[in-house]
Amino acid sequence: MDIDTVLNSLIQRLNTTNSVDEFLKLRKEYIGPNGIVKQHEQQLASLPVEQKRIIGPKLQQLKKDVERVIEEKNGELHSNTLLKRQESESESINFSQAKIGHYHPITNTISMMNQLFIEMGYSIMNGPEIETDTYCFQRLNVPVDHPARDMQDTIYVQAPNILLRTQTSSIESRVLEEFKPPMKVICPGRVYRNEKANRSNHFIFHQYQGFVVLPHVTLKDLFGTFNALFKRMYGDDVEVRYRNKYYPEVEPGVGPDMKCFNCKGTGCAVCKNVGWIEMGGAGMIHPHVLSMAGIDPQKWMGFAFGLGIDRWVMAKYNITDIRTLLGGNVGYKPNLYENTI
Ligand SMILES: [Zn+2]
Repeated sequence: MDIDTVLNSLIQRLNTTNSVDEFLKLRKEYIGPNGIVKQHEQQLASLPVEQKRIIGPKLQQLKKDVERVIEEKNGELHSNTLLKRQESESESINFSQAKIGHYHPITNTISMMNQLFIEMGYSIMNGPEIETDTYCFQRLNVPVDHPARDMQDTIYVQAPNILLRTQTSSIESRVLEEFKPPMKVICPGRVYRNEKANRSNHFIFHQYQGFVVLPHVTLKDLFGTFNALFKRMYGDDVEVRYRNKYYPEVEPGVGPDMKCFNCKGTGCAVCKNVGWIEMGGAGMIHPHVLSMAGIDPQKWMGFAFGLGIDRWVMAKYNITDIRTLLGGNVGYKPNLYENTI
């Protein structure tokens, strides 16, 4: 090959080369141990001195140019390969992220509730799951041997004083003691009871405690709060009724029931053929509960409520068996749809 055409022929061939194998062959052909450049160097050695003076510098320049264009092509191919690898890796990363999963329906429901209460000026507080008898019962107007203890079958860590909290009211009794009113607080959390798991009960479940302590507040404020919550969670058409209830820590006590999401009120296994589902308990905080926490009931009053979050989740996502919420079957898919009521 003529020395003047070497560079151009190489550039043309490199331009049409996209595979690494092809490029490596070309490189060997031009700058390999027996390549074109080497052949020209060998020919140069046999030339007369006058021609060596002319061709020598030309050949040196050619060698530099050939190595430069080969190096450039090498860089181009290398970065393309890297890019492709990154693309395929990021595709596989996205794929695996998609497979990791999503928030648990309980987490989603708590987040939605938190959002509403934050808008209404509430603070979020938490407390220990391993609790003392004092904060779980006594400070909530349930002294030792009170018959209301039978309503909650307690799991003891160390009888008779250390237990797994049976209700998130235990957080309320701690907050009432630790902070000074006025206060508006919500406390979502996990609670435990020694119960047999069935379609609508579980030994681990979740509650959403809320309470306010203000100079003046009434049951109407409590109902207004509940109405806002039910509408936010289930839409404006939600049907709720309130019934008198007995809870030692409140006076008077009430509880909201919501029309069964599963049978729309005609009766089914989920609502135990009643047509309505108990969504929680509430009432005006008993003056004795306030005074036990060091708050003067002559100056302050409040309302408190505890919601069974699991039931709120089941109603929101049309889940008819509470056990699936804590089951390990990742393939399980409830009928996910919103605002079903
Ligand atoms: Zn029903």
